[in-house]
Amino acid sequence: MIVISGPSGAGKGTLIARVVPQFDHLAVSVSATTRPRRAGEREGIEYYHVPRDEFVRRAEAGEFLEWAVYGDNLYGTPALPVLTNLEAGRDVILEIELQGARQVIARKPDAAMVFIAPPSLRELEDRLRRRNTESEEAIEVRMDHARDEMEELAHDALRESREFHYVIVNDDVDEAAERLRSVIERIRENDPAR
Ligand code: 5GP
Repeated sequence: MIVISGPSGAGKGTLIARVVPQFDHLAVSVSATTRPRRAGEREGIEYYHVPRDEFVRRAEAGEFLEWAVYGDNLYGTPALPVLTNLEAGRDVILEIELQGARQVIARKPDAAMVFIAPPSLRELEDRLRRRNTESEEAIEVRMDHARDEMEELAHDALRESREFHYVIVNDDVDEAAERLRSVIERIRENDPAR
């Protein structure tokens, strides 16, 4: 089980969509939600959209591996498809917010936890450019440093909380997708069950 969490807008969905087609052993969990369907969302692909009373009934019946309130809506991971996929030897990706991620840690301590941090470096780069004091090359060097520092900071903070095994700063989407790809590969290789 691979939990991919992080703040909304960090780009979890984009990265997952990029990386999943590169593997044939991955399944992505489809959540149930009470959130109204957005234009372009297909039933059973992005989400299962369910009425609130049905969601609550299923939550009470223990059908969700985890569930959470987010905004005005409820989101939950149906347990059965996850377990079926795991039994078939596939790794299963859960793209969920933090409260849900913590429930998974409590219930499935061997789940691999991946945190996607938002591109907060963009502002830094904009500022560097606005200052107009550095050459393009110097800006690149500074940005490389800043990226490393941010990643280190995020690592320490999250490691200390013992919640996440991997932290990916989604500053550059190509680089972040490549990191996620290699993390998923590593998770697969290190899993002693296989
Ligand atoms: P959105 O409404 O933008 O699709 O999702 C809002 C937030 O809910 C996102 O951070 C998303 O990752 C999270 N989310 C989606 N499905 C689930 C789920 O099944 N459980 C939990 N805990 N969060 C979810």
